[in-house]
Amino acid sequence: MKYLSEFRDPEIAQSLLARIEAAVTRPWAVMEVCGGQTHSIIRYGIDQLLPEGLSLIHGPGCPVCVTPLEMIDRSLAIAARDGVVFCSFGDMLRVPGSSRDLTMVRAEGGDVRVVYSPLDALAIARDNLDREVVFFAVGFETTAPATAMAVHVARREGLGNFSMLVSHVLVPPAIGAIAASAASRVDGFLAAGHVCTVMGSAPYEPLSELHQVPIVVTGFEPVDVLDGIRRCVRQLESGRHEVENAYPRAVRRDGNPAAKAMLDDVFDVCDRRWRGIGVIPASGWRLSERYASFDAERRFDVADVQVEEPARCRAGDVLQGLITPDECECFGGECTPRNPLGAPMVSSEGACAAYYQYRYQYRGADG
Ligand code: SF4
Repeated sequence: MKYLSEFRDPEIAQSLLARIEAAVTRPWAVMEVCGGQTHSIIRYGIDQLLPEGLSLIHGPGCPVCVTPLEMIDRSLAIAARDGVVFCSFGDMLRVPGSSRDLTMVRAEGGDVRVVYSPLDALAIARDNLDREVVFFAVGFETTAPATAMAVHVARREGLGNFSMLVSHVLVPPAIGAIAASAASRVDGFLAAGHVCTVMGSAPYEPLSELHQVPIVVTGFEPVDVLDGIRRCVRQLESGRHEVENAYPRAVRRDGNPAAKAMLDDVFDVCDRRWRGIGVIPASGWRLSERYASFDAERRFDVADVQVEEPARCRAGDVLQGLITPDECECFGGECTPRNPLGAPMVSSEGACAAYYQYRYQYRGADG
């Protein structure tokens, strides 16, 4: 199958590995920012094939995992109200809030529905004009244009029963925060290709320059990831720090102008808390004043809900690459996909779920 099989071709992968091995002369640590890349790395054992001294660090690139606890609790408060239809992507339903999750609200009688797109939620609003329909808008720059489009259409149609709980986050500020952290061990970054299909690679240029790190825009298949690592190592070994596009089949330097215009129309950039990490300045989107009437936080008066993170889950350390999931003492015992303590064990892009699915589960607890 074109555009898939060639990016899983074992011979190409072997050749890239050989080139990486030949290039590495000293230890380097490269962070793959996106959870989709983490799953590819763990699933295909890429981290175990790399030459000694070259390590991969898993980054914060799972939007479900970084959705702050207070936002989960706000979603629970809204979903439990009478007359509300609460719509969310499926991954969010089992993300633990401070005392329960959305599946429990549904079990208690809340009308919580899984949708595959914000436009599905919009259709539910059209069909239920006597109910308040709320969409939980999470995700990186990749999913934000569809969210923006839905609220834009809702305003155009004058749908007064539709609103959004917006928790979109932006990836470049998170890379900047990790690169600036004194605890960081990261020498170079693999940027998330799908984010760049929308925003382009240009937003990474000032970051690369400021922190003097290579940033390689990378896809998600094994050959994509290996090529991203190869390019990153090549830069590190030659003392360069540039933004390089290793995903040209999808990414342009300036991204998608129509999507960016829609985002500019609907959202303002704001400071945002990342679960387990803390507030990262200018790292989120909120609805702009023009769209304030569609803001579920205002409509349901839940903006003041604040909660403390539980200490046992070390998601923040996992998301910043300070520990691997299996270094969390709850991993595989107290915390499993069936009984998750934290979002990285729930989400299909979570690093803890990847370790559990591709390593722990097959090897058994003593593996
Ligand atoms: S294994 Fe579970 S408790 Fe530990 S960091 Fe991951 S999600 Fe949190």
